[in-house]
Amino acid sequence: MKAMVLDGVKQMKLVELPDPEPGPDEVIVKVAYCGVCMTDVHMYFGEFPVKTPVVLGHECSGIISKVGKEVTRVSIGDHIALNPIIHCGVCEYCLGGRTNLCENGLVVGGAGERIINGAYAEYVKVPERNVIKYDKHVPLKYSSLTEPLACVIHGIRLTGIEIGNSVVIIGAGPIGLLFTQLLAISGSSRIIVLDLKNERLKVAEKMGASHVINPKETNDVAKDIKESLDGSLADVVIEAVGSIATVKEAFRYVKKGGKILIFGVPPKGALTTFSPFDVYFTELKVIGAYAFATEDFKKSVAMISSNRVNLDPLITEIYPLEQLEKAFESAKRGDGLKKLISVSGD
Ligand SMILES: [Zn+2]
Ligand SMILES: [Zn+2]
Repeated sequence: MKAMVLDGVKQMKLVELPDPEPGPDEVIVKVAYCGVCMTDVHMYFGEFPVKTPVVLGHECSGIISKVGKEVTRVSIGDHIALNPIIHCGVCEYCLGGRTNLCENGLVVGGAGERIINGAYAEYVKVPERNVIKYDKHVPLKYSSLTEPLACVIHGIRLTGIEIGNSVVIIGAGPIGLLFTQLLAISGSSRIIVLDLKNERLKVAEKMGASHVINPKETNDVAKDIKESLDGSLADVVIEAVGSIATVKEAFRYVKKGGKILIFGVPPKGALTTFSPFDVYFTELKVIGAYAFATEDFKKSVAMISSNRVNLDPLITEIYPLEQLEKAFESAKRGDGLKKLISVSGD
């Protein structure tokens, strides 16, 4: 099969690898689409350590092409989304439902400590329990967004955002825009979206933002937020950029007793300062959300199957497998929104 193999920093090659064969409880997925995640881009540019050679790609939809002897839940021809977290099922985290924190987990093509070959290839092999079936009427390019949407559902769940809360979202990339949509339909009172690109803010408005702010065009973002919230700061601030500067900003936009969600991937090892007194005195909660648990993935499939999220405006580019590096460069520049790699897409 053809696969794009990462061999080192900015070293990517299209190579021929042996077709994978399923073990007894495994399936082979013929990859339809695989989304480009910023973690892939960080690994390609050497900003996130990864052992090479490796095939990246973890946001995958496809069709089952082979099944192992003991596979019972799916059959050849089924349309699926791939859950890239292979959890052990027996560690204390898995037993508590926090499968994303598994002590012995492997991640298919994704960011993590132990990565196995992912979906920037014609085929990918995973255990049967790592695929979820989709109805065939759901376009495969939409189901490739199951993983990022699951991450967003996970972030909202851990933060405990309630009906009537006001929310500031820092960053209107694909992730910030998925947050905007889900919060708009789940009852946030005001959703203020911040981004440096006006074209992204326009999409945010269409997706349910009540106010948008371009920090380049104002000299006091916190004041603008207060004006949009009748004099208050936000109940919840979601950081969806992953920079230290925006993490620091989040503390300026949140009200007393509020919550800050650190969702964007900050540079590994980077440090920041905060005032423990302020956290104590204003009862702030700072929450992290990494990837998703199995239950979030199921909810994501339910939302996409029932057409409750508008994914079309988020998908701005589709590249063939051979042009994966072009897609990474475009993502690095911050062009457009979500980029998909079509391997055998419809
Ligand atoms: Zn991802
Ligand atoms: Zn585990």
